[in-house]
Amino acid sequence: MYQSGCEDTIVAISTPLGQGGIGIIRMSGNKALAVADKLFLARSGKKPSLAPTYTVHYGWIVSHHKKEKQGSAKTAEIIDEALLTVMRAPKSYTTEDVVEISCHSGLTSLQNILNLCLDLGARLAEPGEFTKRAFLNGRIDLAQAEAVLDVIQSRTDAYLKVSLHQLKGDLTVELEAIREILMNTYVEVEAIVNFPEDEINAASTEQLSKRIQAASRRIEELLKSSEQGRILREGIKIVICGKPNVGKSSLLNVLLKQPRAIVSQIPGTTRDTIEENAQIKGVPFQVIDTAGILEPRDFIEEEAVKRSRQHIESADLILFVLDGNARLGEEDERLIKNIKEKNLLILINKCDLPLKLDEKKIRMFLKGSTVLKISALKKTGIRALEKAIVENVWHGKTVHVHGILVSNMRHINALNACAATLERIKKSLKDGLSFEFISEEVKLAVNYLDNITGRNVDEDLLDSIFSQFCIGK
Ligand code: GDP
Repeated sequence: MYQSGCEDTIVAISTPLGQGGIGIIRMSGNKALAVADKLFLARSGKKPSLAPTYTVHYGWIVSHHKKEKQGSAKTAEIIDEALLTVMRAPKSYTTEDVVEISCHSGLTSLQNILNLCLDLGARLAEPGEFTKRAFLNGRIDLAQAEAVLDVIQSRTDAYLKVSLHQLKGDLTVELEAIREILMNTYVEVEAIVNFPEDEINAASTEQLSKRIQAASRRIEELLKSSEQGRILREGIKIVICGKPNVGKSSLLNVLLKQPRAIVSQIPGTTRDTIEENAQIKGVPFQVIDTAGILEPRDFIEEEAVKRSRQHIESADLILFVLDGNARLGEEDERLIKNIKEKNLLILINKCDLPLKLDEKKIRMFLKGSTVLKISALKKTGIRALEKAIVENVWHGKTVHVHGILVSNMRHINALNACAATLERIKKSLKDGLSFEFISEEVKLAVNYLDNITGRNVDEDLLDSIFSQFCIGK
């Protein structure tokens, strides 16, 4: 296990830089209160180091300069008006003494206060170092620390909920329960290895198999959730395609619920792909409006067509838009050939106008695909479209955002490795392989779980995880 060695007191600006209502400087470590004593003048006259935990104090941040002519005498210069919060060890974010200074959020003020803290003996925090300390000091495990980052970065309500569950420790609790089953198995296997004179009967092997089976089932459950977790985390790539002027940009705007793409009556206005992020019922989507050009007229259009093709290739779902007020043309048919094999929803747009499109022909061309009638202009049929998109993505499954959803690739890889090890153990038990070997394998399976929670993790991995955080978190 990596050792913390958190002797320094660290400091950072914890709020985004720029002008704002308030900015927060956070300091953590055993010198935090002593530093606060030197730079904070409370209106009450009380020193921060004497303040009880979880208290907020009004006052001024002051810098003391030596008076040039009068030797050691000092003058105090007010740097900002501030509120200072004291959170004493061990009940703080890092479990160390923490001081937070809320001041006016101008870059100069924050920078001056930060410099003052540094002059008084604090050190600038590295990215994620506050959270790293919370982990190293044992307040949270690694999966929870990673959830902090997920909470900050979550793009949808659904993913935020999932991340908050992980932050609360729901995944940890489940992993610890599985670990306990495996540890009990390990103890039993070790007993067999160390006391070979005791009789090993079929019943004890059966018992071991049952335990491994139970752990294996629970890991499978976690892995089952990972596909949904990945979608919630990374989103789905939807590509809107169709020939020029069928209403692709209009549809993109409707899905985004705000105008972004240029809508024009002149065919081919969207000369390049437009990429936007949206969320539909909690699922993050990257929506790409492709340039519906088939015959490029110049270099720009050639590039656009190339990019459109690449997007179509890598799409999770294609919304193929047709103009319901026009007959199916040669251009539509050529496009259909390109996308036929893909995961599709067919949208007959402009349904506010008389239907001229031969729906039967479409259904014949694109057998098995869902056909929906919409009007991007009048915003009709959009709810049904959103519902169809979500159903298509989840394949009719329900999403349990209230339970545990594994979404982190590092966790998924470790769980897969653990599951594979458990499969090997099951086979070894069946084949009657040596218990020394089985014992090693059980230990390995436990190690994979410990890798997720951080019980067993090296410094390089920690560095790579925490370097993704911002400074001040
Ligand atoms: P794109 O070239 O496929 O992106 O098509 P646009 O979104 O730019 O739309 C082309 C034209 O069709 C514009 O004049 C739109 O206002 C119009 N349009 C788009 N959707 C509808 C619709 O549902 N009904 C009607 N009547 N017109 C639409």
